[in-house]
Amino acid sequence: ASKAAEKESDTSNLRSPICCILGHVDTGKTKLLDKIRQTNVQGGEAGGITQQIGATYFPVEAIKKKTEVMQVYEKRIFEVPGLLIIDTPGHESFTNLRSRGSSLCNIAILVIDIMHGLEQQTIESLRLLRDRKAPFIVALNKIDRLYDWQTIPNNSFRDSFSKQTRSVQQEFEDRLTKIKVALAEQGLNSELYFQNRNMAKYVSIVPTSAVTGEGVPDLLWLLLELTQKRMSKQLMYLSEISATILEVKVVEGFGTTIDVILSNGILREGDRIVLCGLNGPIATNIRALLTPPPSRELRIKSEYIHHKEVKAALGVKIAANDLEKAVAGSRLLVVGPDDDEEELKDTVMDDLTGLLDSVDSS
Ligand code: GDP
Repeated sequence: ASKAAEKESDTSNLRSPICCILGHVDTGKTKLLDKIRQTNVQGGEAGGITQQIGATYFPVEAIKKKTEVMQVYEKRIFEVPGLLIIDTPGHESFTNLRSRGSSLCNIAILVIDIMHGLEQQTIESLRLLRDRKAPFIVALNKIDRLYDWQTIPNNSFRDSFSKQTRSVQQEFEDRLTKIKVALAEQGLNSELYFQNRNMAKYVSIVPTSAVTGEGVPDLLWLLLELTQKRMSKQLMYLSEISATILEVKVVEGFGTTIDVILSNGILREGDRIVLCGLNGPIATNIRALLTPPPSRELRIKSEYIHHKEVKAALGVKIAANDLEKAVAGSRLLVVGPDDDEEELKDTVMDDLTGLLDSVDSS
């Protein structure tokens, strides 16, 4: 028991939190992701940021660099190894994931355009997040469009804001207030993140610009703070597998493959896996575990890198037989030595019922 307790408090065993980006079309989800991915150092190394299957991985060293401007406000100890951000904003398999089985994201960023306020899909995303009790923060994007905004590229919002004229600050305050009222009408209390004294009750708002990069350090800072402080239990590295199918794709030379986000545990070549299929459960063996080569230059010519095993959290492509009818959005389970394969088949098919139910009701 003492060993277990020891493990519990040991943050060296934390895995990377997984983050999704949601929001109305044109609010800047794609652009924001691009900006987060970009390196601040001109022509410099990518700092270990790697493009994975369906996700981008940010090692803690890269996040430290990107949040350097935040150190004046608060010193931070980084405990997680990095951050995994799902690449496809508003991915269908995330929005479909209303089944109890899913545990794809630890935290979501809901992007709102400061010039437009709440829009239809903003409200839908809010409902989805609430139904799933998913923790999230709001990125109030496009602050550079405030009239006469003076840009300091990649700066913290707090510093950039303090350097604006009174009229810019006033326009910001007015728009922020309106959006807070609109969020309250949806039953959501919100507060500017550095004024938020009760993160459990109030959703934090981070003003950003995906064009100038302002507020991006604040956003990453807050993501890490929330996941480290409030979710260390969920982020404990476990041997138990937790994996979600993002996409089903035919790839030359591999046949039908599935792109999977591995949220916890280890997957190994040869593992017996069970997943949900359109015509019933699928049980098959992992033939290959694939990730793209580390750098873009290599990716053009070379194929995938094969792995004997991969450890959470990451995105990985799985090649195996009989994947043609696999259902995106469902879980993937591994048949362990003590597991009953038939029981696992029932479990994954329950997810499908959940997925279809949610499609029916929407
Ligand atoms: P998505 O549909 O949410 O992924 O939105 P996009 O990332 O494609 O952005 C939609 C449009 O808004 C594009 O023309 C972007 O260049 C623009 N845009 C996104 N973020 C910003 C921002 O912070 N400031 C400004 N001025 N334009 C932005």
